[in-house]
Amino acid sequence: MIRFEQVSKVYPDGTTAVDDLSFEVAKGELVTLVGPSGCGKTTTMMMVNRLIEPTSGRILMDGEDISRIDPVKLRRRIGYVIQQVGLFPHRTVLDNTATVPFLTGWKKEKARARGAELLDLVGLDPSVYGSRYPEQLSGGQRQRVGVARALAADPPVLLMDEPFGAVDPVVRERLQDEFLSLQATVRKTVLLVTHDMEEAVRMGDRIAVYGQGRIEQFDTPAAVLGAPATPYVAQFVGADRGLKRLSVTAIEPDDLEDPPRARLDEPAAPAAARLRAEGARWAVVLNERGELHGWVSTEDLALAGSEGTVGDLARRMDAWVPMGAPLKHAFSEMLQWDAGWVAVLDGARLVGVLTPVKLHEALRRSVDADVQGVQRDEVQFDSIADA
Ligand code: ADP
Ligand code: MG
Repeated sequence: MIRFEQVSKVYPDGTTAVDDLSFEVAKGELVTLVGPSGCGKTTTMMMVNRLIEPTSGRILMDGEDISRIDPVKLRRRIGYVIQQVGLFPHRTVLDNTATVPFLTGWKKEKARARGAELLDLVGLDPSVYGSRYPEQLSGGQRQRVGVARALAADPPVLLMDEPFGAVDPVVRERLQDEFLSLQATVRKTVLLVTHDMEEAVRMGDRIAVYGQGRIEQFDTPAAVLGAPATPYVAQFVGADRGLKRLSVTAIEPDDLEDPPRARLDEPAAPAAARLRAEGARWAVVLNERGELHGWVSTEDLALAGSEGTVGDLARRMDAWVPMGAPLKHAFSEMLQWDAGWVAVLDGARLVGVLTPVKLHEALRRSVDADVQGVQRDEVQFDSIADA
């Protein structure tokens, strides 16, 4: 969709901002450009919408050399979101959002209707916020308007330069999540610039890690974290890359342990005896449909004597995560509830539990798989033997 072929940019003062850059972004892919300040990220981005012209090399969009496309027409195909947002202060939020469709010749009413639709899409009620002026919004809301405006003309390509840089970390995470779920439906081809590795990892299908004017590694988040291509990347990714990996590695069924179980309607005393025999100090409590009700300690069951059922003594299970959630999610549940294990659910049904040991194993597994460059599951030992 977007293809850089040996693109360089030397500014008139002799600064080489981008040096012999070649890469390709697939249709519907979100690529993050990450690197320290001054490494050429913004220059790369602005060459795509021809706000800056390369000194050499060429950039293709859908196979077409963009230097042959009229810049105004080109920019209609590209939404642009920047950190300072650049909203028109004297226009309402709705008119800001409707600007591009209006400029491309839509009738005012139609452009506004489209603007309202987009505000809704980014989570701003147009009947509440549409008539406000930008200064009457919070930073996060302004940023949402910026995204709505960039999407209003439904361009296939979106350029985002530090789009969430100006808001506090909590709002930033929200905006990131919102944008990701938006992207899951609109599937734009996106280049997103950030200096924050965490953001690059969260947002990118693939990441381009910039050194000075050059890409040091262009790969999936898991591969960049798991197998940095150069010492520079390893350093940029940081010593805590194991921690960052937690947010890109999903929980899998193989990571789980099968915990001791007890049924909600089981009488307490026999349950205690059974669990003791198994050497279990606790059990998860399930209803007749296998859904998680809570947990119970063997000791509590034994103290209850002949009275009561497991259900009477069950406690609430606060630490749980859905199947497929990132390991980081499970880890933070463990910390938050000071729990030795976390229940993993498929809907309400218990699949298993994740323990710290298993968590560590899962982390190791994902690092090892990446270092070898293959997913372990994909290795067919039979076919290797045959070959
Ligand atoms: P980033 O977005 O990664 O922070 P930029 O692409 O903005 O980096 O800048 C890359 C390099 O080019 C920096 O050294 C910057 O100072 C330089 N630069 C950017 N714009 C100009 C310009 N108009 N004239 C001269 N040098 C520039
Ligand atoms: Mg920049």
